[in-house]
Amino acid sequence: MSISDNLLKLRSEIPDEVSIVAVSKRKSVEDILEAYNEGQRVFGENRVQELIEKQPRLPGDIQWHMVGHLQTNKVKYLAGFTEMIHSADSLKLLQAISREASKAGRTISCLLQIHIASEESKFGFSKEEVLDLTEDPDFQSLTNIRIAGVMGMATFTEDMDRVRSEFRYLRGVFEDLKEKYFTEDQGFLEISMGMSGDYKVAIEEGSTMIRLGTVIFGPRNY
Ligand SMILES: *Cc1c(COP(=O)(O)O)cnc(C)c1O
Repeated sequence: MSISDNLLKLRSEIPDEVSIVAVSKRKSVEDILEAYNEGQRVFGENRVQELIEKQPRLPGDIQWHMVGHLQTNKVKYLAGFTEMIHSADSLKLLQAISREASKAGRTISCLLQIHIASEESKFGFSKEEVLDLTEDPDFQSLTNIRIAGVMGMATFTEDMDRVRSEFRYLRGVFEDLKEKYFTEDQGFLEISMGMSGDYKVAIEEGSTMIRLGTVIFGPRNY
């Protein structure tokens, strides 16, 4: 099936309220354009270098999302155009994003990445850490970021019961944060969870944003 066919099929399956981030890492500009021509406007990349190489070669109305781990010293390269950063996982990084966004005269939407998987290697705040963060005056004083919700990656496993419980946990963290800290904030809306292997479960558990690579573009060659 072509990229267009994949997208059309996905759109027919997925509820309208769930948005698709087309994760185009390791995929060509031509592949991205095929998805663009099918109406896709939100694309995600996980490496700064790849993102800044592709962005100038593609239409200006694409909304670029950074979905991968981001180092503080690299924020300056993407702050001028990136719409949303899904992987905000420390106060230091949020401070860098706010500072660089301010220099660019912009505000960048950020999702607080929460560690929900059993694997050690995955980045993100624990629930306790994120609750502490929201009470930290250094966090509250940041001016050029908009906290738009949370993001999480489930354990890489075939065990969908485990994946489901991790997604359910993330949704719980989202609800807690919304109730305690973002009540007045109309922009705290997104739960970014679900990838090619687990997006159906993620949607059942309340995902508002799924990040899909393989099911749109086919397998990646590393
Ligand atoms: C690669 C990647 C995805 C998409 O992965 P697929 O399994 O190909 O859908 C989603 N989120 C992040 C953070 C990624 O790095």
